[in-house]
Amino acid sequence: MDLGIRGKVALVTASSKGLGKASALALAREGAKVVITARGEDTLDKARQEIEAAAGAGSVHAIAADITDPSAPASVVSETLDTFGSLDILVPNAGGPPPGRALEVDDAQIEAAVNANLTTSVRLVREALPALKESRQGRICCITSYTIKQPAPNLALSNLARTGLWAWAKTAAQDLFPDVTLNLVCPGPHATDRMIQLGGSGGPMGDPDDFGSVVAFLCSKQAAFVSGTAVMVDGAITSGLL
Ligand code: NAP
Repeated sequence: MDLGIRGKVALVTASSKGLGKASALALAREGAKVVITARGEDTLDKARQEIEAAAGAGSVHAIAADITDPSAPASVVSETLDTFGSLDILVPNAGGPPPGRALEVDDAQIEAAVNANLTTSVRLVREALPALKESRQGRICCITSYTIKQPAPNLALSNLARTGLWAWAKTAAQDLFPDVTLNLVCPGPHATDRMIQLGGSGGPMGDPDDFGSVVAFLCSKQAAFVSGTAVMVDGAITSGLL
């Protein structure tokens, strides 16, 4: 299926590794021009080369930035527009917070998690919105976690920040539709560095490349009527009905 995104411009943040990189790669393979970001410049440059090798010269631009810095979303969006001239697809992503049980986390950790996994995405949407509206095929797909539907006991920070983003996104999607679609994509365990740092899942793990293809579909022309939803990519580990 042709996803109808050839020549579109996509900004995928936190994307030198793992699920962000896989999403950028999937979009680039569909013919989008992609902007990737991360803090570590060496890994970022390797990712740029890898995506370019798969999708062709001129298909990727890399920006070294800490996306959780409050000024970064504006500068990253601005550099995207300066580089490629437009912005059609936004995939907000950031590193996950450290593990910890609900009564073990302190105020500073809560503030950092909310900043990284909620407010950063809101800032990115705010900054990208004028360009996404101009696109006439504007798509936002936030990478979050299956914990928005089923909180994990040892991931209290992730649980609280990501459910806040889900509540915000559900509200914002109604304001943005039909100009721009806004969805969440919610990974269960996937074989990335983050998952290995957390000690693995003890069960089956998803392939990041497959996850990237789900993101690409949610950003496609055909997904025009899919908005305000949270798509679980979790290998059925979530047991709730809603
Ligand atoms: P990962 O393999 O550790 O990759 C994280 C990527 O984000 C790296 O490119 C990293 O590069 C970048 N990054 C981290 N913090 C950043 C920051 N402040 N500014 C800019 N870039 C930043 O992680 P992942 O497994 O792909 O996870 C991605 C997201 O999905 C996380 O929020 C994670 O919690 C969530 N998630 C993952 C899983 C899973 O099974 N993998 C499951 C549920 C949820 P630098 O460090 O160089 O900046």
